[in-house]
Amino acid sequence: MKLLILGGGFGGLRLARLLNNKPGIDITIIDRFNYHQFQPLFYQVATAALDASNISFPLRKAFHNSKNVRIRMAEIERIDTVTKQVITNEDSYSYDYLVIATGASTNFFGNKNLEQHAFPMKSTVEALQLRHKLIQNFEDALHTNDATELQRLMNIVVVGGGPTGVELSGAIAEMKKYVLPKDYPELDFSKMNIYLLEAAGKTLAAMSEQSSNNSLTYLQRLGVTVKINALLQDYDGENVTLKDGTLIPSKLVIWAAGIKGNIPAGIDPSLVARGNRIKVDAFNFVQGMNNVFAIGDIAYMEEEAFPNGHPQVAPVAIQQATLLAKNLLHLRQGKIAQPFRYNDKGAMATVGRNLAVVDVPKPKLHFGGFFAWLIWMGLHLMLILGVKNRFFVFTNWLYNYVTYDQSLRLIFKEFYRKDEVNN
Ligand SMILES: Cc1cc2nc3c(=O)[nH]c(=O)nc-3n(C[C@H](O)[C@H](O)[C@H](O)COP(=O)(O)OP(=O)(O)OC[C@H]3O[C@@H](n4cnc5c(N)ncnc54)[C@H](O)[C@@H]3O)c2cc1C
Repeated sequence: MKLLILGGGFGGLRLARLLNNKPGIDITIIDRFNYHQFQPLFYQVATAALDASNISFPLRKAFHNSKNVRIRMAEIERIDTVTKQVITNEDSYSYDYLVIATGASTNFFGNKNLEQHAFPMKSTVEALQLRHKLIQNFEDALHTNDATELQRLMNIVVVGGGPTGVELSGAIAEMKKYVLPKDYPELDFSKMNIYLLEAAGKTLAAMSEQSSNNSLTYLQRLGVTVKINALLQDYDGENVTLKDGTLIPSKLVIWAAGIKGNIPAGIDPSLVARGNRIKVDAFNFVQGMNNVFAIGDIAYMEEEAFPNGHPQVAPVAIQQATLLAKNLLHLRQGKIAQPFRYNDKGAMATVGRNLAVVDVPKPKLHFGGFFAWLIWMGLHLMLILGVKNRFFVFTNWLYNYVTYDQSLRLIFKEFYRKDEVNN
C-alpha cells in the first residue's frame, strides 16, 4: 500500500508513527517544514518565554529507525484524484491512499490591510516575527520624542478572545509587569496598554460560563483592557478602527480571530464546508471517495454531538489519526472499519502565572486558578514531542517561575517580514 500523508502536524505525524514499520505499507509524509510544530506554545515563543527549537521537533528524527516512512520537504500545490497524484513545487507523488492533514491557517476574511499589517501566529516563524516586532517597538520607543508616536508604540492590540488571544494578552501583560520596566527603565510603563478585542459578548466563548467569566477576571487583574462586542473594522498599520468608530493608535496588532482550512487545489468545491474544511464521512473518507481521507483541522465531520463539525483542536486530529491507522490496517485484512466518535476530554486555557481555566465534561467540572494552571502545564509537557524538548520547556518554566524573567528577548533582524525590513 502506497500511503501519502500531506502534513506532518498532530494528525499526520501520529498516523505515520502508528503505521511505522508495519509491513506492506510504504509511507511518504510531505510538509513545507522539516519539523513538527507544537502550536499550543507558540504564544510563549512570541513572548520570549521559550526558544523556537523547544517546541519544534525534526520530522526525520521521529523516523530514524523506520523501514517504511520517508519525508519530503515541499510545498503541496495540487491533488489530482483521477491520476492519483499529488503535485508539489518539487516533484509529483503517486498514491494508493491519500491522507490530507494540512491543518488550518490564518483567516483575515479578505481584509487586505489586516493581512499586510497585522501579525498572525500560525507557525513557528510567525511566532518569532511577532516576538521581534514586540521587542523592536520598545527599542523604537526609546528613539522617539513624539508623544503620539510613543503611545502608538506602547499600545498593543490583540484581536480575538479565544484561547490564543487570551493566552497572548495575559503573557504580554506579565512582560509589562515583571520584565519590560527592568529592560527599559527610561520608558513609563503605566502608559503601556494591552487591548484584547472580542467581537462576541465574552472571552473564551467556547468554554463554560464559569471559565469564560474567570478568564475575564484574570485578564482584568493582569491589567489587560478587554473590549467585548468590539468589532475591528480596519487597521492601516498606525490605527485600529472599530465598527463603532473608536480609534486605537497602535504599531502592533496581533490577529488571533479566525482560521481557515489549508485545502490544496484539486478538491471539488462541492466538498468544501464552512471554514474551508473538507467534508468527510464517519470514517474520514472524503465524501464520495474511497481512497482519499482528510483528518484533523482540515476535516469537516458532522457527529450527533457535534452537528457543526468538531472543534479544531489537537485531540481531534490525534484521535482521528489513531482510528484511521487502525482502519487502514483493517482495510488490508478485509475487516470492517470503525466509525469515528470524538472523545471530548475537556478544554483548558491559561491566562498567566498561577492562572488557568479548565472544563471537564464528565464528570462536569469547571475550575480555575493555581490547580488548573498546574494541570495545564502537566498536560502540555506530556504532549510535547521529544524528551529533550520536554526537559528544556520544563526547566525554562521553572527558571521563569523562580526569577520572574525570561532570557530570550533577542532580535534577529533576518526574521522580519519583508515589509518591516524595507521600512
Ligand atoms: C496559536 C495556536 C494555539 C493552539 N492551542 C491549542 C491548544 O492549546 N490545544 C489544542 O488542542 N489545540 C490548540 N491549537 C490547535 C491545534 O494546534 C490544531 O488543532 C492541530 O495542530 C491540528 O492538527 P492537524 O494535524 O490537523 O494540523 P497541523 O498540526 O496544523 O499540521 C498541518 C501540517 O500541514 C503542513 N502544511 C499545510 N499546508 C501545506 C502545504 N500547502 N504544503 C506543505 N505542507 C503544508 C503544515 O506545515 C503543518 O505541518 C492551537 C493552534 C494555534 C495556531
